[in-house]
Amino acid sequence: MMDATEVRDDLLHPLKTHFGHERFRPMQAPIVADALAGRDSFVILPTGGGKSLCYQLPAVVGDGVTIVVSPLIALMHNQVDLLSANGVPAAYLNSTLSRDAQRDCEQRALAGEFKLLYLAPERIMSSWGRSLLARLPVSRFAIDEAHCISEWGHDFRPEYRMLGELRTGFEGRFADVPIMALTATATPRVADDVVRQLNLREPTIHRGDFERKNLHYVVRPKQQVFEHICRYLRDRPDAEGIIYCQSRAKVDDLAARLQQQGFAALPYHAGMASEDRAANQQAFLHDEAKVMVATIAFGMGVDKPDVRFVMHADLPRHLEGYYQETGRAGRDGLPAECILYYSGTDRAKIEYFIEQKTDPAEKAHAYEQLEQIIRFANTTECRCVPLLTHFGQAHEGNCGHCDNCLDPPKMTDATEDAQKLLSAIARTDQRFGLTYVIDVLRGSKAERVMTNGHHALSVHGLGSHKPKAYWQLIAQTLIKDNQLAITPDEFRVAHLTEASLSVLRGQAEVEVPMNRASASSGRSES
Ligand code: ADP
Ligand code: ZN
Repeated sequence: MMDATEVRDDLLHPLKTHFGHERFRPMQAPIVADALAGRDSFVILPTGGGKSLCYQLPAVVGDGVTIVVSPLIALMHNQVDLLSANGVPAAYLNSTLSRDAQRDCEQRALAGEFKLLYLAPERIMSSWGRSLLARLPVSRFAIDEAHCISEWGHDFRPEYRMLGELRTGFEGRFADVPIMALTATATPRVADDVVRQLNLREPTIHRGDFERKNLHYVVRPKQQVFEHICRYLRDRPDAEGIIYCQSRAKVDDLAARLQQQGFAALPYHAGMASEDRAANQQAFLHDEAKVMVATIAFGMGVDKPDVRFVMHADLPRHLEGYYQETGRAGRDGLPAECILYYSGTDRAKIEYFIEQKTDPAEKAHAYEQLEQIIRFANTTECRCVPLLTHFGQAHEGNCGHCDNCLDPPKMTDATEDAQKLLSAIARTDQRFGLTYVIDVLRGSKAERVMTNGHHALSVHGLGSHKPKAYWQLIAQTLIKDNQLAITPDEFRVAHLTEASLSVLRGQAEVEVPMNRASASSGRSES
């Protein structure tokens, strides 16, 4: 067997003639080799990493036809056009084709004209799709956006579920046809799920490098945000960037206020008329508008290389989204800045939304995601650690491109406060969530506190001198060091651990950063 790191010379020629590339990008060569050896594989590469080539090249040099499953029609058209322009016979079959065009395409596929055939997942599994597949010399399957098969992902699509049958159904016809699953967004849990759902057979997992070294990550307290944004834009009159907000109303408001200050800012959200949305997007792409103020509806498929900053005026709901959104900065490889404005109030808002969910599993999952992004926002260590851990990638040492590495936060002793928090958890019998315990600590007279008799506890009111966010920060710090734990279900009950005792006994010190987003007593925090 060939060494995966060595590039086969016979592949460089088709790489050049059919795709115009001189060399492989990192990971591409071993992935292509795997495919040609007939193995299953799971490819996890960041957006722009060059995933398509991983199945297109094997399709070109191998026999038969490669079936590509893709959920995005626009993307299918785009790829087929590119391939055709490069002399690679490819086609798509989807609902946009007329009946005649479909029949024609089918005939040509059966005549063996195509190297690649793109199909939407629901098409493949229809009786029409099944009968077509049965008559084609299928050499491999490529499942693009494979995370869509997992409910743990952020983009679950029920029509993807049936793809598991490729391996097990079809009267065993495809039992030995290799499958390549591809995605830019698999967390370790989603990755396991994809492998299981697709019935992949001992797949090689090819996980790329998700670290974006030209992006400078900064988290700032969410105070005087408008003033800060204005100053930022004035200092960089040529910079173009995106400001993400959680709500449509806030997008409209912020864009209008920035316009009043003379900035070329435009709004973008799903509530706008589609012509207006398209016009604003074009203005941004053609550098007429410098700043796009948008909800997360903006960005899919937008490929503007010179975005110099991405700001999050509100806390995103999960790290996945944060990574994808900030990933739109610095596509040209030049330095770009990612600024997150964070306050504990945002956390409470998201918790409120999560509480509206009725499905316990969904609720627990949403809480888990929230905790991950909070960990990112609160960390005093390298921001790349929580960010890359999310993608199953380890990161050690100083990254040299985040605020914590470039300007390490000054720490202050908080052992006594940590003891207060842990005592409050103990005194309320380890039966409540953090929000409640913190309320008790801060002397809340809420009905629930009174009914439980917790206003009579000695810890009641002990922490009233500090904002909620400060106590949340203490809690996060303790959780990180296993000195406090939260049940991983929808109830999120805070409870003590073995290590809590050493804090309570004064055997372990607890430190928190000074003057940080959540440690400072923001006005909105009480
Ligand atoms: P992904 O699907 O991972 O987001 P694409 O497959 O769309 O990425 O590729 C992103 C870009 O990289 C495309 O413009 C593609 O032509 C280019 N590309 C892919 N492989 C190579 C290579 N080996 N050398 C140079 N450019 C490449
Ligand atoms: Zn760092």
